[in-house]
Amino acid sequence: MSKKGDMLYAWTNDAEIQKKAELGGAVTALWKHALDNKIVDAVFVVTKGYDLYDAVPVVITDSKDLAKTAGSLHCGTLLMAKLVKKYLDGAKDKKIGVTVKGCDAMGFYELAKRKQINLDNVIMIGVNCGGSVSPVLARKMIKEKYDVDPDKVHKEEIDKGQFIIEYEGGHKGISVDELEEAGFGRRPNCRRCKMKIPRQADLACGNWGVIGPKAGKATFVEVCSEKGAALLDGAVKKGILATEAANPKGLEIRGKVEGAMFKLADKWRKHDFEGLGDGKDRLKKIMNETSRCIKCYQCIDVCPICYCVDCTTKNPAMVPPGELPVNFMFHLIRYSHIADSCVNCGQCEEVCAAEIPNALIMHAQQVELEKMFGHTPGVNMELPLMAYVEEKEERARLNNTGSDMIYQNVFNPVAKK
Ligand code: SF4
Ligand code: SF4
Repeated sequence: MSKKGDMLYAWTNDAEIQKKAELGGAVTALWKHALDNKIVDAVFVVTKGYDLYDAVPVVITDSKDLAKTAGSLHCGTLLMAKLVKKYLDGAKDKKIGVTVKGCDAMGFYELAKRKQINLDNVIMIGVNCGGSVSPVLARKMIKEKYDVDPDKVHKEEIDKGQFIIEYEGGHKGISVDELEEAGFGRRPNCRRCKMKIPRQADLACGNWGVIGPKAGKATFVEVCSEKGAALLDGAVKKGILATEAANPKGLEIRGKVEGAMFKLADKWRKHDFEGLGDGKDRLKKIMNETSRCIKCYQCIDVCPICYCVDCTTKNPAMVPPGELPVNFMFHLIRYSHIADSCVNCGQCEEVCAAEIPNALIMHAQQVELEKMFGHTPGVNMELPLMAYVEEKEERARLNNTGSDMIYQNVFNPVAKK
């Protein structure tokens, strides 16, 4: 019997999954087991759409369809949590299995706190994530840095610090550092991300730390909850999955990879946050950047923290309608509502037609608030600093001292101390 904290190597015994899946097919096998034994009603995962740069979310109810979802898509930048809330009724009365990367898992917790997702009905299998690449930039990068037609690429992966592509006639890898120095590589929010192994999921899976004869043939699995342990044990009992204890040396290597990722994230945080300036300079920079906003609401629509039906930014008394450039209050309202809980998923930046670095601005504020109040979003069910404030209280606060307090603390490091 496995238990929370166990570290294992896992692989499938299912011949069909073995043919298609990577790393021993453990994740696909776990979902097959969950579907076939009615542990979940559906599995919600990402699959390749039109091409490699097109990640499409799919709901799978028949395990025969799982094969086409095998493998990772680094050029897909979807966030699963908001989609479960929007299109699967927040798993209110259906049991859903979801494969999640770190920011997905964080989004699930933030929406669950706000009662928009029923986590009791969700099983999360987390996968290690070193970062994703924006699809538009990926195409440009492959053309310019790899000198390869992006349409000829049929596979990509990030391995040992390289972004590797396979295309008709060969394969090529370039170090992620080199790509990022040249303005390509991972999305800016991914560079700053420290949620590399999503341990708030029920199982945390990946290839880091799989060494020896099992390298490339098994998945590293960390058991993170009793629910995860039960899923794993059930799959082993049914014979679809085999496990063995992880090699201690592999465990050490996994820790080192994660540690190196943290250091890199710190480097990027310093770089990006310093670029935003401090105090009044930061405020000026943010006002300048956001002055391009066309108030299309896309950033609000995709954000896993935004869930209000009556959004305050649509209140004419707060933000005069039809005014361009948009009143800065529009952005101040967003900051005051969600900066404490931003999970740095990058969605708001990805969709912004005005190319405003929304995620950077919000993440910089979140990190400051975390330093002040010690609250880390997305890791557990601990309540956020401001999410449960009643709408009328929030309005009063914005009209009185609350927004000033947020302004002082976040934009003015002197007032913070
Ligand atoms: S997505 Fe960009 S342009 Fe649209 S409302 Fe948000 S910040 Fe403004
Ligand atoms: S503000 Fe942007 S980066 Fe932060 S959680 Fe919302 S969409 Fe993600």
